[in-house]
This record gives sequence, C-alpha cells and structure tokens, in this order.
Amino acid sequence: MSGLHEKGVAELGRALAAREVSSAELTTHLLARIDSQAPLGCFLHVDGEGAMAAAQAADARRAAGEASPLLGVPVAHKDIFVTRGMPTTAGSKILARYQSPFDATVVARLEAAGTVSLGKLNCDEFAMGSGNENSAFGAVKNPWDATRVPGGSSGGSAAAVAARLVPAATGTDTGGSIRQPASFTGTTGIKPTYGVCSRYGMIAFASSLDQAGPLARSAEDCALLLSAMSGFDERDATSAERPPQDFHAQMLLPRAGATAARPLQGLRIGLPTEFFPDNLGADVNAAVRAALAELEKLGATLVDVSLPRTELSIPVYYIIAPAEASSNLSRFDGVKFGHRAQQHGDLLDMYKRTRAEGFGAEVKRRIMIGTYVLSHGYYDAYYLQAQKLRRMIADDFQRCFQGCDVIAGPVAPSVAWKHGEQGDDPVKAYLADIFTLPASLAGLPGMSLPAGFGEHHMPVGLQLIGNYFAEGQLLHTAHAFQQATDWHRRSPT
Ligand code: GLN
Repeated sequence: MSGLHEKGVAELGRALAAREVSSAELTTHLLARIDSQAPLGCFLHVDGEGAMAAAQAADARRAAGEASPLLGVPVAHKDIFVTRGMPTTAGSKILARYQSPFDATVVARLEAAGTVSLGKLNCDEFAMGSGNENSAFGAVKNPWDATRVPGGSSGGSAAAVAARLVPAATGTDTGGSIRQPASFTGTTGIKPTYGVCSRYGMIAFASSLDQAGPLARSAEDCALLLSAMSGFDERDATSAERPPQDFHAQMLLPRAGATAARPLQGLRIGLPTEFFPDNLGADVNAAVRAALAELEKLGATLVDVSLPRTELSIPVYYIIAPAEASSNLSRFDGVKFGHRAQQHGDLLDMYKRTRAEGFGAEVKRRIMIGTYVLSHGYYDAYYLQAQKLRRMIADDFQRCFQGCDVIAGPVAPSVAWKHGEQGDDPVKAYLADIFTLPASLAGLPGMSLPAGFGEHHMPVGLQLIGNYFAEGQLLHTAHAFQQATDWHRRSPT
C-alpha cells in the first residue's frame, strides 16, 4: 500500500469504487505521511480524528451504493477558508486561536461531495506574498529543494500536493497565488473566472480579485475538484448566476475535427509578445517553448498576440489590491475576531496595539499603501487611474481573443528562488507577478501545468489563460497536453 500517496484524485476515485482500498486506509496512510513530512511546514493544523470519522462515513456511503467520484478522497484546505471544526488563521498571528462558527461554501461543497478533509494548509499572511515566507507560522519548504520557496501565497497547498501528502488541495488566487505555486512545485492548478467559486467564508484580501480554485496532480483531477467547489451561491453577491458545471465532462468533450493524434486540431493559441521579454529566464523560456511545440504537435496553431499593458499590471495591481486589503482588514480590531493586545489603555490604544502585535510587516505595508492611495487628494491620482487601466487591460484581452482561443506563456519569470533570497525588498517579489496579474485584473480563468524543469532541476509551469467561463476549454487543452507528456507525474524524491 506504499504507493497509495502516488495516486491522484481520479485514480483514487476509481480505486475506492473498485474497493481496492477504503477511505479509512487511505486516510490512515496519508496522516502518517503528513506526520513524517512535518519539517516541510505544509500543515498548520492536522485533524486526524475528524478525518478518520469522515473517511469511515464515506466508506459507509460507498457500501450503501453511493458512487460519486470524490467520495472518500482526502483533501486539505488553504488556511484562508474558514472551517467550523478546525482553527482558521489566514497565516496571521491576529487570528491565532480563531475558530469560525461556519464553513466556507467551497469547504462545505467539497465536504458534501464526500471529500475527507485532513487539515489546514500554511499560506502567506492574508494571502499576501509569493513565497509563503510571510506566514506568521513559519515558511514552507519546496519539496523539490528544501532550500527554496514553494511559491505563494498557496505555498502549503502546492507543497503538500507536490510532496504527495494529499492528492489535492484548495487554494486562492488574487494575483497568481494558485498558478505561481503550482508552477514552482510541478503541480497543476486552476484559478477559474472571477465569480465561479463562492467567496463566502474565504477570508478577504482583495475582494474584486480573490478567487478559489484547486491544486492537484493533473488537469483531470482539477476538473473533478472544480466541479464540486464551484457554482452559484446567494451568500456571495459577486457569485456568477450560472447552472452547475461539469468541468470533467467539458474537459473530455472532443473538439470538432479532432483525431486521437491531434486532439487540439484547430485550437488557436495566442502568444503575447510581452510574455516573452528579454529578461525572461532562459530556462523558463526553453521549457515553455518546448511545451508550446508539443501543443502544436497535438494540432494547435500558435499565433502572435499582444497584451501591451502587461507591465502596467504590476503598479495597477499593487494599488488596487492594497486599497481593498486596507478596507477588508479593518475588521481585525481586537473586538470581533482573534487576538487582542493584553496590555492597553483606552479603546483606540487597544486597536493600535492589537494591530501592531497581530499583523506582520508585509500586511502592515499593504494597509499603509492602501490607506494612502484611497485618501483624499490621492484617490484620483492613484486609485482611480488604476481602475481605468484595469478596464483597459481587460479590453486588451478581448482584442486578443478575437484572434485566438487560448493564451499561453510562462507563469513566472524564473523557477522557485531560495529562502531569504529576496531579503527586505518586497518590490522584487512584486515584479515576479508580471505574468499572473493581467488575468487576475481582467477576472479571466488561468491555469498552470507542469511543463518541464529549469535551473537546479526546479519545475517550470506553462500558463494557459482562457476567455470568461472557458474553464472547460483550458482543462481540455491541459488534459490533452498531459495525455502526451509525463511532467505532471514526476515527483520529488
Ligand atoms: N503575489 C501576489 C501578492 O502578493 C498575489 C497574491 C495572491 O494571489 N493571493 O499579492
């Protein structure tokens, strides 16, 4: 049974259905593995008891004839989703010992689908970061090289999937936090169109950008997870009012004119010139180009497109996201949730000390930037200008999609960097978000899939961006690629 952790979601679903393994056996195996790999720092909370109870319940449901593909499959959640039975910290000291009275919709839906939650995964504080080094509870190590970061902010999710601690995990992506850690760890992740997954119970960072999505081994596994996680939720005012989607069925739907050898026949893949700048890492460029050549072999046509405001997406995002964060994080005041300073004078002093003690440096920096760009006199100069550019960035994508069906490029300019390498310069990390921010600002779906290895034998991801609600097409494209390649099956030893 030692190979159990090597199986992905779809495979496990089949093994459970065939009674080759029970969810209880699987859960026991993974709990032991999580324990033995604790130095990676992936989990902030492991719920052994709850997981075993859920696994036994799933086994009973299977025995009674139920057969949904996720029934009994273990997962774990980024610690930014609130959970009734487990603590939720958002990677912040200010929420240490916080326990939510309800489950996030995404968590509740995955539970209803029969998944077994093993625990909560480390992340950057309030999902602000690109290396998981902003967590108040310690950094996460990249399973491919423990001296390197797993990416962020869903670093615990990505590392746990890469290290085979869990077949799939939830993540959130505000400016790249599913795609970039997937790229850095050789896992597959998808951020759906804004509004596809409910934000109810997802601790807010930048509400107009935040989206949930799965990280797993393959596009197929992501499709199964996303089908269960997504769908209209009346408790989220920005939730898209659409009928439930079966992304797995959409992924399998053959294209018109496709053959077994050329499943992507007729698919036009747009390559934005701006996604291949001179300073793109040569190793990343080589892996991405090789993946594109593979997609061509599968029948796709590569066309040149342009996203002329790609560079501007960095200042635009780093104005809008902090602006929304400064507003969202005002609720953490020592009264309603989590930590309160022990020693304080009057009410104002209590607020100040609580926030000074509870928030980390990056969160404080963003609250200050956000407060500044929203303040009288600067609102028009920064925030309003950024909003106008955001609209233009979204329009640029629509022009691209007149000439192509899917956009492809790198996820990040380099492979995972070393812990501590970025020192005290937050701007270095901000600049590395250049290829993920545009789709976030436009609200478009994007995914990262393993495309090979770069320097130091670190994984490189290929990014695919689709038009609104084209998740099925992205997953179809990624699945075709993964049927022809085995990068997604490689695991760190
Ligand atoms: N790296 C980006 C940031 O620090 C994106 C984070 C995210 O997507 N949550 O804001």
